[in-house]
Formats: sequence, C-alpha cells, structure tokens
Amino acid sequence: MSERIAVIGAGQMGSGIAHVAALAGHPVTVIDVAPAVVDKGRATIAANLDRQVKKGAIDGAARDAALARIETATAIEAVAPAAVVIEAATERVDLKYRLFEDLDRLAAPGAILATNTSSISITAIAARTRRPDAVIGMHFMNPVPVMQLVEVIRGLATSDATTQRVLALARGLGKTPVEVNDAPGFVANRVLMPMINEAVFCLMEGVGTPEAIDTVMKLGMNHPMGPLALADLIGLDTCLAILEVLHEGLGDDKYRPCPLLRKYVAAGWLGRKSGRGFYPY
Ligand code: NAD
Repeated sequence: MSERIAVIGAGQMGSGIAHVAALAGHPVTVIDVAPAVVDKGRATIAANLDRQVKKGAIDGAARDAALARIETATAIEAVAPAAVVIEAATERVDLKYRLFEDLDRLAAPGAILATNTSSISITAIAARTRRPDAVIGMHFMNPVPVMQLVEVIRGLATSDATTQRVLALARGLGKTPVEVNDAPGFVANRVLMPMINEAVFCLMEGVGTPEAIDTVMKLGMNHPMGPLALADLIGLDTCLAILEVLHEGLGDDKYRPCPLLRKYVAAGWLGRKSGRGFYPY
C-alpha cells in the first residue's frame, strides 16, 4: 500500500499536491486552519478532477477513488500517521519555523518533513527540528496537476536517504524531479522572479500596458503566459515574499521588489485568488 501523505495547507498548492498524491494512490490528510478552508480545498480538488474526467485524462472511477483517499483535518496532530509531510502553508518565515517545530514533535519518527516553500531556506527550516537530515524542499509548480517539474532542494544536513525517497516519491506522482542545493529562491524563483519584477517596473514606468508587456514576452520569447499574468496566477503576495527573501538573502539591490508590487499587495490586489491583480478576474 502507498504511504500516507499529510499536506499542510489547503490553498492553491496544497490542494494541487493532495490531488496528484491521491490520484497516484496515496492516502492523503489535508490540514488547514479552519473547516471552511479545508472544505474549499476539497471542492477545488473535486472540480479539478471533474475537469480531468471531461478531458478524458482519467475516468470517473479514478476520480471517485482519489476523492475517497482524501481526509481533511484542522488540527496539526493529524500528521501522526503520515510517512511524508508536505508543508504548503502561507509563505512566511515565522509561520514555517513554528510549523516545523510542531511537525517535528507530532510527526512519526522516521517521517520525512518536506516543504513546498518557494524561497525560504531549507537549511534554516531544518534547524528548527531535531531531524534536519529528514527535512527537504519539494517545490511543486502551479498548477500542480498540470506542471511536470518538482524542484527537490537539499538543505545542508539533508541525507542521501531522504533525497532518494523524495525523488522516488516525485516520480511516483508522475512528476520529473530536479535536484538542486539550498540557496535563496533555489533555481526556479532565482531566475523567474527578477523577470516578473522587471515586468512590474516596466508597468510602473509606463513602458507598456499589462497586455503589451505580456504579449511581447509571449510572442517574442515563446512563453506560454506573460510575466504579469503569471504573477497573478502565483499570487502577488507570494511574489513579494519571494523577492524579499532574494533581496535579503543575496544582499543585492537588483532583487529589490518593485514599489508597484508592494502597493498592489497593500491594496489586497493579490491576483487571481483575490479577484484582482494586474488583470481583473
Ligand atoms: P495560498 O494562500 O493559496 O494557501 C496557503 C494556505 O495555508 C491557506 O489556505 C492558509 O489558510 C494555510 N495556512 C496558513 N497557516 C497555516 C497553518 N498554521 N496550518 C495549516 N495551514 C495554514 O498559498 P499557496 O499559493 O498555496 O502557497 C503555499 C506555499 O506554496 C507557499 O510556501 C508558496 O511559496 C509555495 N508555492 C506557491 C506557488 C504558487 O504559484 N502560488 C508555487 C510553488 C510554491
């Protein structure tokens, strides 16, 4: 039988990770702070599975079996039976540190503690636990059911055994893992976020409209989405948080977040998830 996976956070990423894990045959426990949030996560998973059935990617029986494998909880203690915990809560350093202290205390001995953080140091998160060898980055891309990559990030103390187990787990979920070392933003966001930030500077300086900036990058560089539309998909709060980590961690002003990005986040314009970002939704 496949090992149980606990997913912390039922937001965009947590629900996507639970979706692919359940479809791959894992029993899954999804944990978030309130019943309404876990219910919304479950409804998102059901709607996305339905979409896959309509497309002919899976059949109705696979959808029903996947949904039946997903349990939800609002208490972190529900991680106890999991062999692997994948944390996908809000991108805030203090929150992740506190969560990993709790996870270390409550997860089974021998359980792997993975984080889907976009940018926070795996080494620093691991240092909050008494099992830094079993802490690793498992960075899924959004939307999780669609995107092939899992960036697997080794912290300073991550063991070979943990890394091998996580690489195998990612392959079992139908993904292609790529192993990298811990550094601010890892590879994906170290390269992506400066591009998104530069697009926001272009907008702020009136170099082009959002549509013009995105169309240049789509048609000119063959990107499937423009950087501003992609920022709206990721969440502008998440983009800002990642840029702060790059700026602070690498100490170079080339990573300073654009003031217009800060302004949008302050206004609560967070992109798709709030109904408004660089575009209305
Ligand atoms: P989100 O805002 O959609 O969801 C975050 C969820 O975490 C919310 O439901 C929130 O209630 C929950 N949460 C907060 N505190 C919690 C706690 N103590 N216990 C349990 N749940 C808690 O955010 P998201 O986009 O799903 O991002 C989650 C993580 O994934 C972040 O670390 C982010 O950097 C990372 N990530 C995001 C993307 C992306 O494109 N959005 C891509 C890769 C990785």
